[in-house]
Amino acid sequence: MAGDERATLGQFMNLACFQYLRVGTEEVAGRAPIVAAGRKRGYDLVESLGLLGTTQDAATIQRTLAAALGADGTRLCVVNSIAPSDSGGYTVHIREGACTTGQESSEPLCAFTMGVFVGALHGITGAQMRGTESVCSACGAEACVYQIEPVTF
Ligand SMILES: [Zn+2]
Repeated sequence: MAGDERATLGQFMNLACFQYLRVGTEEVAGRAPIVAAGRKRGYDLVESLGLLGTTQDAATIQRTLAAALGADGTRLCVVNSIAPSDSGGYTVHIREGACTTGQESSEPLCAFTMGVFVGALHGITGAQMRGTESVCSACGAEACVYQIEPVTF
């Protein structure tokens, strides 16, 4: 990475700042820019690991993304499970997601976090993906659940 490496502060900042960016952007411009940013982050993360188009195996993907995004990775969230879905995609269960920390909502709000999984699954499988969030911890659930499916043309 070029530029200021923050010798004193390192790579992490307060999650409240991320929440302000996410919520503020959403208020001004809607959810699409947040999802798009997440998708790019997920894809680029997989690319940086040298894993573009390497596997469609859910267990391998779960291990890879749990390590890359969890406590020893970017700390986006804890990956509970990634399992194959009937539609040929994946069902993702996560907790402690960055989008939902301290948030309460009547509807799912994991725009960035889900976007990361859409982009990461696109990158690692080589198939373009789209996602929906069926259950969200901001609505009181124990985990957030994303359905990530291949885009069919
Ligand atoms: Zn959620």
